[in-house]
Amino acid sequence: MRLRSPFFLRLLISSLLLLALGMGLVGVLGATRIRATYLAGKEESLRNEARLLASLVAEDLGTPRASELGERLAALGRQLACRITVVGDDGIVLADNEADPERMENHRLRPEIVGAAAQGEGVSVRLSHTVGQEMLYLAVRSPSARRPAFFVRLAVPLEALDAHLSKLYADLAGAAALALLIAALFAFYFTRRYTRPLSELTLLAEAYARGEFERRIHSREGGELGVLARALNAMADAQAGMLARIAKDREELLAIVAGMSEGLIATDGEQRVLLVNGAAASLFDLELEKARGRPLWELVRDDAVAKAAAEVLAGAEGKAFTLGPVRGRHLEVRVGAISVRGRPDGLILLAHDVSEALRYEELRKEFVANVSHELRTPLTLIKGFVETLRDGALRDATKAPEFLATIERHVDRLANLVSDLLELSRLDAPGEAGLQREPVDVGEAVRRAADLLGPAAERRRQRLEVEVGPGLPPVLGVAHELERAIANLLDNAIKYSSEGGNVRLRASSGAGGGRVEIEVSDDGIGIPAEDLPRVFERFYRVDKSRSREMGGTGLGLAIVKHVAQLHGGTAHVTSAPGRGSTFSLRLPAVPEAPDSPAPPASDPVTPRT
Ligand code: ADP
Repeated sequence: MRLRSPFFLRLLISSLLLLALGMGLVGVLGATRIRATYLAGKEESLRNEARLLASLVAEDLGTPRASELGERLAALGRQLACRITVVGDDGIVLADNEADPERMENHRLRPEIVGAAAQGEGVSVRLSHTVGQEMLYLAVRSPSARRPAFFVRLAVPLEALDAHLSKLYADLAGAAALALLIAALFAFYFTRRYTRPLSELTLLAEAYARGEFERRIHSREGGELGVLARALNAMADAQAGMLARIAKDREELLAIVAGMSEGLIATDGEQRVLLVNGAAASLFDLELEKARGRPLWELVRDDAVAKAAAEVLAGAEGKAFTLGPVRGRHLEVRVGAISVRGRPDGLILLAHDVSEALRYEELRKEFVANVSHELRTPLTLIKGFVETLRDGALRDATKAPEFLATIERHVDRLANLVSDLLELSRLDAPGEAGLQREPVDVGEAVRRAADLLGPAAERRRQRLEVEVGPGLPPVLGVAHELERAIANLLDNAIKYSSEGGNVRLRASSGAGGGRVEIEVSDDGIGIPAEDLPRVFERFYRVDKSRSREMGGTGLGLAIVKHVAQLHGGTAHVTSAPGRGSTFSLRLPAVPEAPDSPAPPASDPVTPRT
């Protein structure tokens, strides 16, 4: 317990003050009363003595013994320890035990004498000029039968009385001080007894106010304090539970926000940043730790964002727009309000990178333009020849077959083009096109492709050399697609090398048996270095007229690249003009697992680009 707790001190001090006040009152009242009682007692004894003296004096006055009155009074005065004065009816002092009556002034107007003359008895307390002390005077009139009348006055100094009373007061004050001390000890004990639990409760409440909800009070108090203690404990339990829940929710929320692929920035109503996730930090090039508390316009320096933020905070609908390029990226940004009781009190900015999507859109447009162009050329030619035939050439025995052959060549080209396009679209979404991956025997695929293209090589008197390495592991993929890719490479090698050249097809295992490498090389025209990076693009041709002349669609290598990806591998080229080219496919082998079954026959394929 804290002895200095204001509540304890206040309670203690006020009870001590009350005690002191009570005792003081009792003391003052008691002292007054004691003095009054004492005076009354003194008066009573003086009265009796005065009456007695009056009758004695009455006997002596007017007799020869009157001359001895002074002496007798002196003796009596010593016995009674008081001053005795006998005053005549006219106020002349007849006798006095302490002073010479001759020299004393007329006493008729002394208050006690005036009282005695009127009522038979008079009392007065005043300063005596004769003795210079405060005195109690009491006078009685002579018995009524006596003529002439006289007064007997007795006087006692009050000094003795006051000394006596002072001693009494001192004793009383001592007793009161002792009583006060004992009472103070009790007050201290009880105050402490009742304020201790309150102080503890106060400390506890202060701890709760600081958020320290783990503290509890173990009180055996009954009554209201016990109820209060239990209520505080219960409140702390509830509060701690709620805080834990809030902390958990917050952690979950932060984890979700941190894991979002979209960039998120949240601000307060003054656009000061409250939260930034990793994605937003990388999109807007921010330092996560330094972003908090800074204004949004400082972090994202963009007019469109600043304008949208101001409008949304002013109550406008959420805004969505694209930004960019920001550091080479296009961003789709949405700015919305965080509303508190229907009024915007903060902002949520969501940003996501749409550069890829935009690039795909561009590619798609380019692709459609390319396809249209590729289709239009043979169609125009076919239409031209058909019209020429219809206009009479059909009857020309020499030209007709020639034209028909040209038409057929273009139709074939169209058919090839459509077939390649279909193939590409299938490879773009392999899973959906029913392409299920399964272990493929690479040697078999190589041989079949070689068989397919063998006649073409023969026609160009080229030597086709096929070499399948020993212990070739299978790859996971689609057999006929792999075959087609190899065939495309062989077809190119045959097409783009001179008659009588050499074409070599080799399949070997690499990287310690974990990989299969299929290589097609020729000693043909080769490819200039600047074209190498683009030969795998759709419709990219190094020599357009030669490609067309050879019936190429410009899609062969794009298909090869897609097939490589379908098999989890890559396609490469090395070439130099005039020295020939080497195309290769590097595919991961199916991992060897003798005691586990072969990979599932239908492994869903993830589309790749
Ligand atoms: P195409 O149907 O025109 O052959 P591809 O996609 O198969 O289309 O090839 C793209 C281009 O790459 C070809 O037009 C050609 O210019 C070049 N090319 C491909 N293979 C070879 C090769 N073996 N030697 C030289 N050039 C080649």
